[in-house]
Amino acid sequence: MLTKTIIVGAGISGASLARLLAERGESVLVIDAKDHIAGNCYDCLEDGIMVHKYGTHIFHTNNKDVWDFLCRFTKWYPYQHKVLGLVDGQTIPIPFNLNSLHLVFPKNMADKLELRLIENFGFNKKIPILKLRESGDGDLQFLADYIYQKIFLEYTLKQWGLAPDEIDPAITGRVPVYISRDDRYFQDRYQGIPMGGFTAMVGRLLDHPNIAVQLNTPFDKGMQYKRLFHTGSIDEFFDISLENCPIAASTLISSNLRNLASRMPLSSIIPAIMIGRESANTNGFWTIRQTKRLLPLNIRPRSNVALTNDIIPSLATKMRNYTMHICGLLRM
Ligand SMILES: Cc1cc2nc3c(=O)[nH]c(=O)nc-3n(C[C@H](O)[C@H](O)[C@H](O)COP(=O)(O)OP(=O)(O)OC[C@H]3O[C@@H](n4cnc5c(N)ncnc54)[C@H](O)[C@@H]3O)c2cc1C
Repeated sequence: MLTKTIIVGAGISGASLARLLAERGESVLVIDAKDHIAGNCYDCLEDGIMVHKYGTHIFHTNNKDVWDFLCRFTKWYPYQHKVLGLVDGQTIPIPFNLNSLHLVFPKNMADKLELRLIENFGFNKKIPILKLRESGDGDLQFLADYIYQKIFLEYTLKQWGLAPDEIDPAITGRVPVYISRDDRYFQDRYQGIPMGGFTAMVGRLLDHPNIAVQLNTPFDKGMQYKRLFHTGSIDEFFDISLENCPIAASTLISSNLRNLASRMPLSSIIPAIMIGRESANTNGFWTIRQTKRLLPLNIRPRSNVALTNDIIPSLATKMRNYTMHICGLLRM
């Protein structure tokens, strides 16, 4: 009789599932096509900087069970994520919020628009850009057009290869207009960067006598198992063609980023971890991430910036789904 449970993927989802099952006495085999654990959260030291190889990752959740669970495997650097956008030569908080509003418009105009926003939607609300554009209010329509042109249009064209109204509002809505003075990117109760890195945290999750890990092992449909958890791409698992997928693959412009990195002086400090550039210049950079800003001042490395680029945006959704499953397991 087959007893083996296979988990495909040694990322944070696969490792959490493996740990929870292992602690219930189940033997688990975790396989991963890559030559390392931690999936997209993989980080490693390069020239003294903890580089997030596949893009900057910040842990954030409102779920106390998830937070308490991970606290068993890591300590955290407290970190509240903030993003600045470069609009018309000045840096403003992203998502666009009331502070951004007052930075880009004269006081009288900003006061009036702030009032309109609060009257129409209330304070501390996140409004997707498309909803703002559809509002009947002329002032808000003007504001929506401004934000659309200056922030969403170029960014979305560059990231997705489509104009914002050509793609699912759920995707553009992920970067909403925030009617608030809170400059943080996430408002979750628990946020942080694992001390020692995500990879070390995932390593401790997988460190259990009931867990075996096999790297460089792509899932093969001929594999024998009793139960399978697949944390990779669902379309790949079901052999679904990407031809009809509405989301074009993102364009990687990492060479531009690297060029930029090499031009930055060692002492260069950008004011936040990311700066998105929303100019029409398609050869320009997209985001700068100074990953050393993830760490507290006293332990930041002195060496140069490390730059990465956003790819595979749909994964965050997948993570949320797995987080829900993991929460379910935690409560069982
Ligand atoms: C640039 C970027 C930034 C992000 N920032 C954040 C953030 O700040 N906060 C956040 O919560 N989320 C963020 N995300 C989403 C984040 O990547 C996920 O939250 C998290 O990494 C998902 O973990 P996972 O284990 O589900 O998937 P993954 O990390 O993708 O792990 C899946 C693993 O499965 C393996 N695998 C897939 N298919 C197969 C196969 N057929 N055979 C064998 N192995 C396979 C892969 O090699 C991979 O190691 C970001 C994503 C990107 C791309």
